[in-house]
Amino acid sequence: MANESRESGMSKTSKVCQSVTGMNDVLPAEAPRWRALEAAFRAACARYGFGEVRTPVCEYTELFTRGIGEETDVVAKEMYSFEDRGGHSLTLRPEGTASAVRAYLEHTVGNTEPVARWYYVGPMFRGERPAKGRYRQFHQVGAEVYGDGSAAVDAELIDLAYGFVQSLGISQCKVRLNSLGSGDTKRRYAAALQAYYTPLRDKLSEDSQRRLTVNPLRILDSKSPEDVALRGGAPHLLAVLTDEDRQHFDKVCAILTRLGTPFEVDPTIIRGLDYYSRTIFEISETSGRLGAQDALGGGGRYDTLISDLGGKPTPAVGFAFGIERLLLAASDEALRADSAPVCAVLAVDRTDADLVHAEALAIAKELRSQGLSVVVDTRFGKLDKQFRHAERAGAVAAVIVGKQEIDEQTVKLKDLVARQERSVGRDVLAENVRALLQASRSGSPTE
Ligand code: AMP
Repeated sequence: MANESRESGMSKTSKVCQSVTGMNDVLPAEAPRWRALEAAFRAACARYGFGEVRTPVCEYTELFTRGIGEETDVVAKEMYSFEDRGGHSLTLRPEGTASAVRAYLEHTVGNTEPVARWYYVGPMFRGERPAKGRYRQFHQVGAEVYGDGSAAVDAELIDLAYGFVQSLGISQCKVRLNSLGSGDTKRRYAAALQAYYTPLRDKLSEDSQRRLTVNPLRILDSKSPEDVALRGGAPHLLAVLTDEDRQHFDKVCAILTRLGTPFEVDPTIIRGLDYYSRTIFEISETSGRLGAQDALGGGGRYDTLISDLGGKPTPAVGFAFGIERLLLAASDEALRADSAPVCAVLAVDRTDADLVHAEALAIAKELRSQGLSVVVDTRFGKLDKQFRHAERAGAVAAVIVGKQEIDEQTVKLKDLVARQERSVGRDVLAENVRALLQASRSGSPTE
């Protein structure tokens, strides 16, 4: 992104023209890849029957502390919280699920739609240490299904996520699957972890010593080297699943196999947010090009979050992917921008500058009204330079407008690819420009 290698002539102490650390601009040259990715996600969601939800970028802080869990890194260390003018604590959303659930409850969607399928696209905020693929404002695409607790929905969502990642040309990736079990399983697993870690307490990081009593599962999610070193001997979740949870998990695996979605069972993944139960999954990039930040996204079931936030017990499942990481991993072919070729209108004759400007803009407007993309150069520079600038702006044709052309009701039309120029009547200009633009798209000569 534009700010990752900042080379500015500004003094180091001035922050007036610096974006906030970890928050990046996307310049017009990069934006087409973003648009193509977002369009691919929207199209994929539409094919699976999902509708878009757009929620505000901030919420009352309590939604996240209660929803995500006080002991998670996100809530304990990374939230952008501030007091508004009314003295309420607000937080810039660190993820999309809590906000979507809040909207689902606030608008009592469950009363009218037994199963709701939602997706979202937008910025998220976490005060993490910035690195390649890790930012403080980042962007996610995500999807959620409310009201259906069946394993089939878990499998369908994973299939949607995997298909989307594949469609971006990210072939080197891996789906890892685990189950956290539900209510009682999670509690029994927490007890098993406590039994394992208590004799090793002194070897744990300070944070994890605290987690041992409050929320032992979070020890598995810790990035501290001393905690990572002890993880190998920890008991596996899959070993303590109830029969019902086990059946749910086996069914997810069986359907994914039937759908041809590759996955591996990995009992070590637990995900970073507290609300998950039963199925959880992650998709990571495996070529190494993303370095340490190779997790593209993931998600899982969160059957108790809706009731924890005050709603009727409603099963739910979802996922989120980081747009920046997907863009780092995606192939250029998959995200080739379908931008329309452009025509430049060049004002070239200063002798009656006002008239030439007005006519150049009128011609541009007429061409635009025919659906063509037009950029106008009003600077009366050297013609060669104007052509170069036009080409840099992506123009494949130039319409040259001077006093003489206006008097004759003609223009000069230049094919910037074939480097040929001819005089064209104003009445047939649009069709001639269109032919040139279309030819540039198909790569064939016009005549
Ligand atoms: P999470 O909501 O933590 O499960 O994250 C889901 C995905 O969002 C991750 O796999 C990343 O692709 C992306 N993500 C999370 N945090 C960041 C961040 N700080 N910067 C960039 N991407 C992120």
